[in-house]
Amino acid sequence: MKNLKDKYIMITGSSRGIGATIAQHLAKLEAKVAITYSSSSDSAQQVFQSLEGKEHLLLQMDVTNSESIKNAFDKFMEHFSTLSALVNNAGITKDGLLLRMQDKDFDSVLKTNLYGNFYCAREAAKYMIKARQGHIINISSVVAQIGNPGQANYVASKAGIEGLTRTMANELAGRNIQVNAIAPGFIKTNMTEQLNVKQVQAITDRIPLKKLGHPQDIAETVAFLLSSSYITGQVISVNGGLAM
Ligand code: NDP
Repeated sequence: MKNLKDKYIMITGSSRGIGATIAQHLAKLEAKVAITYSSSSDSAQQVFQSLEGKEHLLLQMDVTNSESIKNAFDKFMEHFSTLSALVNNAGITKDGLLLRMQDKDFDSVLKTNLYGNFYCAREAAKYMIKARQGHIINISSVVAQIGNPGQANYVASKAGIEGLTRTMANELAGRNIQVNAIAPGFIKTNMTEQLNVKQVQAITDRIPLKKLGHPQDIAETVAFLLSSSYITGQVISVNGGLAM
């Protein structure tokens, strides 16, 4: 894997799960990273302490609040002076069948997953356009492609992210900024720990590779995209063959 020594990377929602593993993997490849969290400060602190290398940053940032995002990016630029990449990873679920899903559950998932992605990308693009370089990597989900009962809010947010990815890629390509998405399948994290044994078995049976993915699978795909100079506007599936 290519060394990422001169890369300065903001990773949203990196206090645990996939975001934490992305940060740890990129730091291992010598990138300088900003760990960000909205409320899990203890867990974010632990991830921060676990990073290889120095100069990393720990920031509080609520992706639903553009003022909080602006403050975090200001601190990032004060510390590193340059922004090589944004990994838009923060996300939540609030599942419920269509007729039972409340407005507030639809709104909060859209606000965190889709609006948050847009707010952060817009802020990052300001700096990247000036520098005429950068990568934006959005974390989508396989369910954007195949749908999932009980997740109307989450699936809509992730399908929105994929459309946003293609549009931003088109708008920003002239400034040498690459925008891509990664669509993970079912990955072992807190999010999937909410599933019971029966649900996990049912999911595993549907996956051609017959196993759930690991956060490291996503981290390695992020590193791959960061080392490419000719991929933009794509959604990379990392799902064990669940959707082909
Ligand atoms: P986790 O629930 O383990 O972690 C979610 C992260 O998002 C936490 O760091 C959390 O920080 C942060 N976060 C939540 N709300 C906000 C907010 N308002 N502002 C800033 N940060 C916030 O999730 P995963 O690691 O499982 O998922 C990471 C991404 O991968 C998500 O986008 C998810 O949709 C996607 N994904 C996951 C899959 C899986 O199987 N796990 C499959 C497909 C996609 P804090 O606690 O501080 O709020």
